[in-house]
Amino acid sequence: MARPKIVVVGGGFAGAECLQRLERKLGPAEAELTLVTPTDYQLYLPLLPHVAAGVLTPQSVAVSLRRRLRRTRLVPGAAIGVDTAAKVCIVRKTTGELVDVPYDQLVLTAGSTTRTFDIPGLTEYALGMKTLAQAAYLRDHVIAQLDLAAVAEDPAERDARLRFVVVGGGYAGTETAACLQRLTTAAAKRYPRLDPSLIEWHLVDVAPKLLPELGENLGAKAMQMLRRRGVEFSLNTSVAAVEADSVTLTDGRVLPTRTLIWTAGVAASPLVHTLSTETMRGRLVTTAELTVPGVEGVFAAGDAAAVPDLAAGGGAITPPTAQHAQRQGKALAHNVAARLRGGLLRPYRHRDLGLVVDLGGKDAVSKPLGVELSGVPAQAVARGYHVMALPTVTARTRVLVNWALNATAGDDFVRTGFQAGRPARLQDFEETNAFLTSEELKQRYEEE
Ligand SMILES: Cc1cc2nc3c(=O)[nH]c(=O)nc-3n(C[C@H](O)[C@H](O)[C@H](O)COP(=O)(O)OP(=O)(O)OC[C@H]3O[C@@H](n4cnc5c(N)ncnc54)[C@H](O)[C@@H]3O)c2cc1C
Repeated sequence: MARPKIVVVGGGFAGAECLQRLERKLGPAEAELTLVTPTDYQLYLPLLPHVAAGVLTPQSVAVSLRRRLRRTRLVPGAAIGVDTAAKVCIVRKTTGELVDVPYDQLVLTAGSTTRTFDIPGLTEYALGMKTLAQAAYLRDHVIAQLDLAAVAEDPAERDARLRFVVVGGGYAGTETAACLQRLTTAAAKRYPRLDPSLIEWHLVDVAPKLLPELGENLGAKAMQMLRRRGVEFSLNTSVAAVEADSVTLTDGRVLPTRTLIWTAGVAASPLVHTLSTETMRGRLVTTAELTVPGVEGVFAAGDAAAVPDLAAGGGAITPPTAQHAQRQGKALAHNVAARLRGGLLRPYRHRDLGLVVDLGGKDAVSKPLGVELSGVPAQAVARGYHVMALPTVTARTRVLVNWALNATAGDDFVRTGFQAGRPARLQDFEETNAFLTSEELKQRYEEE
């Protein structure tokens, strides 16, 4: 008899965790496991700012899926549509070829992409921080600005190249600004022709406070630490327009710059819209058991899904964090196996453990289990948390060794140049326009 086909889309925090546990829970004769994934690694996103800053090598945060998953079949490509009636996932392989991947149980864990708004110039010029390639690109780009500023004849060009604007005062934007600011401060010592006081970092957010996830006190502490390092804040402010050489803020100021880093939130993978089921804030609505109502055999979790937050109550959905995605992966494995064996599905419930925010060096703020910490104790908690959360011993060792190497030998601030000349818009890195519409999906099956 053919084995039931379990297909997981996306090998991130939720997907990889789910499959690793399914491999243990189910015997090889019980189900065929398939993962559709554009990369053969799970990206440990919380340490991406360290990659951009050169504190960690890109390989340190790319956790091998083939080391983690021993008998799952990996299909190298991206799902671009799901036909829930035919129970088929349409995949564009990395070669461009389209293939149908049939399923009995489908698990959608395709994560999220950078959220953008209808701001003139934004999608053309903003740089994101969501993929490994973006982090590596950003590092090269920032170092290139220092290289070019050092030889600029025109003071206006020099000043613009030394001005960096980050939008988004959540943990991703704050950590990115903090880590890259440390990079430029340290690198400036290698440029005798550059006056380091000309380097400017601006952090812009439409909200009135920094790091709202951590509460007023820690947000203010983080601001204090970064202000001491020269970072300028524009809160209650957004971006009105972006051009190749400037950013206009909503308060009317025009900041000449060649660097706009955009980290103003995330949007669920566009894949969720190919299902024609209910969404909430753009995320696929699920039950507390992580099933998608109205379609048979489909589960979803992580950033792509709107999962009821039973611990918070009041109709809340779980925030898009690695902490929830990984634990939802565990719950998915239980429920998918239960569905196969006719067992009971369990609701997902997890009380938030708090957040850690690494601002580089001895600067950090964190709130483990509600306890507010800042400075060295917060940094110890942040680094300890990441080491424990990395999914393999190899990845933990690689990160620890790289941190130690960076702390002792420092950085050489070299540009790799691997991605020089490539189109660098958000959609070029995140491939947000590769999906089928529901009409295209319908047509595809009518034609067959
Ligand atoms: C800079 C940064 C810092 C962060 N720091 C923290 C932190 O400190 N703490 C915290 O809890 N969270 C943090 N987060 C958020 C956290 O990383 C996400 O919430 C988490 O990764 C979500 O897990 P996921 O499994 O839903 O998606 P992901 O881990 O993003 O995995 C999704 C996977 O799906 C793949 N995929 C995408 N589209 C397709 C497709 N069409 N077909 C097949 N595969 C696809 C992707 O390649 C990826 O491998 C941070 C995020 C960023 C960007």
